[in-house]
Amino acid sequence: MHFSSIIGQARTKNLLAQLHAGGRVPHALLFLGATGSGNLALALAFAQLLECERPAEGDSCGECPACRKAAQFVHPDIHFSYPTIGTNAVSTDFIKQWRAALAENPYLDANTWLQRLGAENKQGNINKEECNAILKKLSLKAFEGRYKILLMWLPEYLGKEGNRLLKLIEEPPEQTIFLLVAENQDLILNTILSRCQMIKTDTLSDEDITAGLNQWRGVDSARARQIVLLADGDFGQALALADHPANDDARLLLDWLRKCWRGHGPELVRWADEFARLGRENQKQFLQYGLHFFRELMALIAGSLSPLRLPQEELESARNMAKVLNLDKLMLLTELFNDNIYFIERNANPKILVLDTAISINRIMKTV
Ligand SMILES: [Zn+2]
Repeated sequence: MHFSSIIGQARTKNLLAQLHAGGRVPHALLFLGATGSGNLALALAFAQLLECERPAEGDSCGECPACRKAAQFVHPDIHFSYPTIGTNAVSTDFIKQWRAALAENPYLDANTWLQRLGAENKQGNINKEECNAILKKLSLKAFEGRYKILLMWLPEYLGKEGNRLLKLIEEPPEQTIFLLVAENQDLILNTILSRCQMIKTDTLSDEDITAGLNQWRGVDSARARQIVLLADGDFGQALALADHPANDDARLLLDWLRKCWRGHGPELVRWADEFARLGRENQKQFLQYGLHFFRELMALIAGSLSPLRLPQEELESARNMAKVLNLDKLMLLTELFNDNIYFIERNANPKILVLDTAISINRIMKTV
């Protein structure tokens, strides 16, 4: 991974290049930023820069043997640690899936990753066995690199097991560097936080995401505009939306809400049949679009002056919808959609789920 292929984040890239050029690389860095902002991509690019044999202009060369290995996530001195599922599981058990996931989308989010491991409703974690494996790996000499690097994605999943790593993070063996990539500071032990230098990544702008979609997936600007509205600064989600072309979620949502309002049984059953055929990813995307639509509606009702993040043709429908909904009702609908995303991710029967949801929506809409 090169810095040049990471979208936005100019400030952080400069900072990292300076740390590298000055030869003052702290032994523990914590990349903190929102899901899909690029904190993982930045850590990957920094690891590659650290191992590169011919770095130039603050970026890795991309051609030396070290870069080639780093780019395929197989460099023997760049170790990875991440949440896994199953008792006694360690990260290396899932290294194939990890490399494939990064190659597909280095703006990965935790849920997509855990579902990839077949987590269903199991919680991921970074357990005691993994901590012991890290201690062992880092006690060995570097194989060929300048540094021995441990890139840990989502130390939030360590919980109190993180205590096992404190001494190592505080006094690491020579030329050993920890790169922690986190999203939620509140879920990380203070004792770990205090031992790391924090690198906070910025929120991505709509322009960054539009440019990124073009660069990464060749998405044209009209389609990019729609995706940007839904992605809300999460480039990982933007990539997922680009990879799973929408089947006009807006039309589908408004049509469904109207039918829910009417509450005509056979009509809702037909709609549920149609929904069930969409497939899980599209169902999720539709529900996420619904959450976005409700958020914008809340802003409209609350009298937000900033322009709504909805395409022109939906604004009219949003204004009409705002007449029959209030903030309390929108809160209930948001909760309902959030629950549905959770159930869809865990393989609930989509037909039964949306039929049940339609009845709830009807009730919410009709309550005075
Ligand atoms: Zn290189």
